[in-house]
Amino acid sequence: MEMIRRVSVLGATGSVGASTLDLIGRDPERFPVEALTAGSNVQRLIELAKLHRPRFAAIADDRHFQALKDGLVGTGIECGAGESAVIEAADRPAGWVMAAIVGSVGLPPTFAAIRRGALVALANKEALVCAGALMTGEARRRGAKLLPVDSEHNAIFQVFEDGRRESVEKLVLTASGGPFRTWPVERMAQATPTEAVKHPTWSMGAKISVDSATLMNKGLEVIEAHHLFEIPEERIEVVVHPQSVLHSLVAYRDGSVLGQLGTPDMRVPISYALAWPERIETPAARLNLAQIGQLTFEAPDPTRFPALRLARLALQTGGAAPTILNAANEVAVHGFLAGRLGFLDIARVVESTLGSITAPAPASIDEVRAIDAEVRARAGARLAA
Ligand code: NAD
Ligand code: MG
Repeated sequence: MEMIRRVSVLGATGSVGASTLDLIGRDPERFPVEALTAGSNVQRLIELAKLHRPRFAAIADDRHFQALKDGLVGTGIECGAGESAVIEAADRPAGWVMAAIVGSVGLPPTFAAIRRGALVALANKEALVCAGALMTGEARRRGAKLLPVDSEHNAIFQVFEDGRRESVEKLVLTASGGPFRTWPVERMAQATPTEAVKHPTWSMGAKISVDSATLMNKGLEVIEAHHLFEIPEERIEVVVHPQSVLHSLVAYRDGSVLGQLGTPDMRVPISYALAWPERIETPAARLNLAQIGQLTFEAPDPTRFPALRLARLALQTGGAAPTILNAANEVAVHGFLAGRLGFLDIARVVESTLGSITAPAPASIDEVRAIDAEVRARAGARLAA
C-alpha cells in the first residue's frame, strides 16, 4: 500500500514551490496539503489554496492579510499573516515540509519544521549556509531528516552509500557555469539583471539565477554539501558542466565514481524528496544521451568568478563567516537586481564585508538573525555610500 504523507509547502508561490505543487497535484490523495505560504504574492497564494485545499494559508507580508481573508472566504481555509504565521505554517502537523523560501528569511520556519522532527525537503540553501551546524544538530536531536532538494545535493544523496562515509574520497558538484560562462570580464562588468537571470539550462527564481551567474550559487552549495554530508571543504570539488545533465558525483576510495543523471527539471529531485525512500513517476522529459551527443566538463575560472573562492574562504574561516558571506551576498544581489550595483560589484561587496566583520559561530538561531541583520545594515550602508 502506498503511504499517505501530509505535506506543507513554504514558498509555495516560487519556482520550487510551483514544481512541488505540480507533483503534489498529480496525487492529492497521497499528498494531502496542510499549509501553504507565500511572501507577498497574495493572488497566486489564493489561487493555489483554492486548487490544493490546504487547512492553512499564510502570507508573510501582513499588508495582504485582508486580501487573503477575502479571497478565501467560504472555503474553510484558515488564514494567517506575518512572519509568525509562516512559522505557524511550518509548525503545523505535516510529516513532510518543503522549505522553499528564498534567503535567510526562510531560516526560522525551516528551523521550526526541524524542531518538531519533520522530514524537511530543503531547497532553502541560504538557511543551511547561515546556520549549518545549528540545523544539522537540531535535526539529529529531534529525529528530523533533511532531504536535499538542490539538484546537486539530491544527486549525491541518491548515490551516497549511507554508513560508508569513510569510503568517500570526495564529492564533485557540477555547475552549469551560468549565462556568462564564456563572457570576457569587460562584458561581464556591463551585464544587466535581465541578462543575469537568463539561465541557460534551469528556470529559477531571480536570486538563485544571479547566484548562478556569479557562481556564488556553487559556493553556497559547497557549504551546503559540507553540512549535509559531513565532508570537509577540501574534499568537495566543483566542475563546470554546461549541459546540466550529470547532476553531481561521489568518488569512492576504490576509484569508483557514482553520479546521477537526468534532464534539468527540478521535479525529479523534488519527487525523490517527496516520496523518499520510494520513487514516484514524474512527467520530466526523459534523458536521450544519443540526442545530447556530448557532455563536456571544464574547471571553473577563478578570476572571472571570485565568488566560489570567497565561499570556500568563509567555510575555512568558520565562526560566523558563512553567515556573513550569505547576508552580504543577499544584499549585493538585491542591489544588483535593483540596478544600484554592477554585476562584478556583487563579489566585491561580499569580499569587503567578509573582511570587515568577524564574529564567533552563532550559538542560536537568534544569534544568526542578529549577525544577519548587522551585516545587512553595514553592507546596505556600503551600497548607499
Ligand atoms: P523564488 O523567488 O521563485 O520563490 C521564493 C519563494 O519565497 C516565494 O514563494 C516567495 O513568496 C517566498 N518568499 C520571499 N520572500 C519571503 C519572505 N520574506 N517571507 C516568506 N516567504 C518569502 O525562488 P526559487 O527559485 O523557488 O528558490 C527557492 C529556494 O530554493 C532558494 O533558496 C533557492 O536557492 C533554492 N533552489 C531553487 C532552485 C530552482 O530551481 N529554482 C534549485 C535549487 C535550489
Ligand atoms: Mg543547485
